Amino acid sequence: MEQANVVIIGAGVVGCAIARALSARWEDVFVLEAMPKIGMGASTRNSGVIHAGLYYPTGSLKAKHCVRGNILTYEFCKAHNVPHRNTGKLIVAATPAEGPKLTALMENARKNGVEGLSIVDRAGIRAREPHIEGDHAIVVPSTGIVSSEELVKAYARVATDQGAHIVTHAKVEKLQHIGGKVRVSSAAGEIEARCLINAAGLFADEVAAMLGSPMAKHKIYPVRGEYCELVRAKADLIRGLVYPLPHSDGLSLGVHLTKTLWGTVLLGPTARYVADKNDYERDREPIEDFARDAKTMVPELQAADLVLGYSGIRAKLVPPTEHGIADFIIQRDADIPAVIQLMGIESPGLTSALAIAEQVFQIATEILN
Ligand SMILES: Cc1cc2nc3c(=O)[nH]c(=O)nc-3n(C[C@H](O)[C@H](O)[C@H](O)COP(=O)(O)OP(=O)(O)OC[C@H]3O[C@@H](n4cnc5c(N)ncnc54)[C@H](O)[C@@H]3O)c2cc1C
Repeated sequence: MEQANVVIIGAGVVGCAIARALSARWEDVFVLEAMPKIGMGASTRNSGVIHAGLYYPTGSLKAKHCVRGNILTYEFCKAHNVPHRNTGKLIVAATPAEGPKLTALMENARKNGVEGLSIVDRAGIRAREPHIEGDHAIVVPSTGIVSSEELVKAYARVATDQGAHIVTHAKVEKLQHIGGKVRVSSAAGEIEARCLINAAGLFADEVAAMLGSPMAKHKIYPVRGEYCELVRAKADLIRGLVYPLPHSDGLSLGVHLTKTLWGTVLLGPTARYVADKNDYERDREPIEDFARDAKTMVPELQAADLVLGYSGIRAKLVPPTEHGIADFIIQRDADIPAVIQLMGIESPGLTSALAIAEQVFQIATEILN
């Protein structure tokens, strides 16, 4: 049977970033991906935003990894010619009544170490975004956009250049821990690993269950986020990234406007629990609902200015019956010490991937040295 130092389950942005970090130090690093291509899960079904790190509770992994990941992602994109742009963003308070929430967000951002924030009034908003309606707004200079597809490919390319093996059509179906190692059975064959890393995104709870790990108690609830696109003739209504204040339910950052690298404008994502982790398209949100939500920020936007776009599914740890934000879970499995579990890697996972990979590198060092 083939022997590996490391097997990573899942070639999303997180699995590929981890493969890049670990293959710089160890030989025989394998990534097993169920799909025919890398990055077909949440990693290319998102807003493509390099977040600044202002929303998340201070001290959480989300806050730390996002702030560090923001810096690392820009550095990586520059060094490897990954299409990206440091656009900055506006978070808009629609009315003076939203002022305290905006101030609290600004304070949280400062505590998280997000630099360079400022507040602008209505005129300041209009100077940046002439079609946006709002009372005042936070300007966040470190936010940007990236081609998520090119980013995943670039992490995978560096990993492969360093000797990692990325195997597609390799759905992991059975896992057994035997004598300190993990035997991995996938559609591509069997392999024994000294260190197994669960980076299976939406399916990480099912991978934990295959291992018989108590960590399978962390259920993943799929929350779909849908997008619309502004028709080409209306794309000039928006210049950069414009967000409302985040929803108090903790489900999402709110339906926002994103000018993409190719000049189109995305409106979304919405947030709705779905029953099936593969249900991207059933019962799509009506375009009229997007138009109604967006009107607060862009009063002149009509349903006729929108077409349906793609959708993605968030890997939420919070069940539909509860409210709140769960942190990323990234830890060595207490019951199966050869395993590192990553669960609930929802937003800002794209931004955080390189910082998450640094943490996983530290844990892998304990296992492999
Ligand atoms: C709508 C939406 C918008 C978002 N916007 C942003 C944003 O703007 N900025 C940001 O920073 N983050 C954003 N995110 C979050 C970000 O996209 C995710 O955190 C990130 O992509 C997670 O990457 P991943 O590699 O963990 O998961 P995935 O990309 O889902 O990868 C997991 C991989 O594991 C594979 N897999 C699963 N089970 C198995 C198995 N048994 N065997 C083999 N392979 C398996 C899957 O096929 C998949 O390819 C957004 C997410 C969504 C859904």
